[in-house]
Amino acid sequence: MTHAIDTITLPHGRPGTSRTVRIHRFGQPGARPKAYIQAGLHAGELPGMLVAQQLVRHLAALDAAGAVTGEIVLVPMANPIGLDQMLLGTHLGRFDLAAGVNFNRSFADLWEPVAQALRNGRAGPLGPDADANRRLIQQALADAALALTPRTEADALRRLLLLNAVDADLMLDLHCDSEAAMHLYTTPACWPDFADLATRLGCLAALLAESSGGEPFDEACSTPWDRLRALFDTPETPIPVGCHATTVELRGESDVDEGLAAQDAAAIIGHLAWRGVLALPAPTIEVDLTLATPLAAVDRVRTPVGGVALYHVALGDQVTAGQHVATVMDPATGERHLCHAGTDGPVWSRRQCRYAGPGDILLSIAGRKVLVTSGNLLTA
Ligand SMILES: [Zn+2]
Repeated sequence: MTHAIDTITLPHGRPGTSRTVRIHRFGQPGARPKAYIQAGLHAGELPGMLVAQQLVRHLAALDAAGAVTGEIVLVPMANPIGLDQMLLGTHLGRFDLAAGVNFNRSFADLWEPVAQALRNGRAGPLGPDADANRRLIQQALADAALALTPRTEADALRRLLLLNAVDADLMLDLHCDSEAAMHLYTTPACWPDFADLATRLGCLAALLAESSGGEPFDEACSTPWDRLRALFDTPETPIPVGCHATTVELRGESDVDEGLAAQDAAAIIGHLAWRGVLALPAPTIEVDLTLATPLAAVDRVRTPVGGVALYHVALGDQVTAGQHVATVMDPATGERHLCHAGTDGPVWSRRQCRYAGPGDILLSIAGRKVLVTSGNLLTA
């Protein structure tokens, strides 16, 4: 049995308060591949936390059977600060109320200190063995995370999560959208291997960006490798895609259901087996690589006016550019504003709150033609 649980107290809490994060560890420390999984970084997103508790049960049983061959670090509730944010009877878990910052933004980008450590020899020399280079860079990334000096509780949380994840070979950050079909975000370099996970989960869309802006957690784990490869990858010093990281959106906020969670946990266990983290038979599945579309090709259908939002398309519907997809009615005058799709593709997300303000996004469509050429690609 290798299952161990750490309970870490976050520093920098306000006087008289104290918050903790529970971290489950399975497999021998240092065994590879290492997988890191977390849920609830956006503290109001419950489906992932339900899936994570199912994973704890599965992994404890697999551990007892000696089937954990790699190392697995699982944080089933990643954000105790956000869980504690009630305001006037409403839970607000997406933004840190103290600073107004999204909990899944502003993670440290560690490529620079690692590049420095490689240049000045502190990280040891790169050589002809890609796997040895991967281990060396993983250690340098962990050292760089350890050296971060947060001043607030929220930044201490960011450091703690990054410290546990940044030397992983595989990172799954479990989230959900407002109202949505299953989908995931990842980078083009990570995508081909995530086609397996996307297929097992039944994703409607896989949204790819090299960098979506805002420093979300998944990119803090994956994009340092892209930058380091651009600088140091040569035939004599090959550098692999060291960390496959993805943000998985487990449908919508209200899709909190034990049956769905069991299905999703089984899909993740299957993917862990496929990656070689678990010694389980992982029958090859038919994957669909064409599922991936550029995040910059997502059409965000916005309303220019405020009012009551009425949808004319369901999640998963294929729409065509110009199609009337929603109406916003001014509740004072009864005036109706029609909203149209700007591209062809499936509707993967809708705004749950039917009261919309001017400029709000009503729904999102996974197009194939790039629509956004500058600025951040993620919503607030
Ligand atoms: Zn989220």
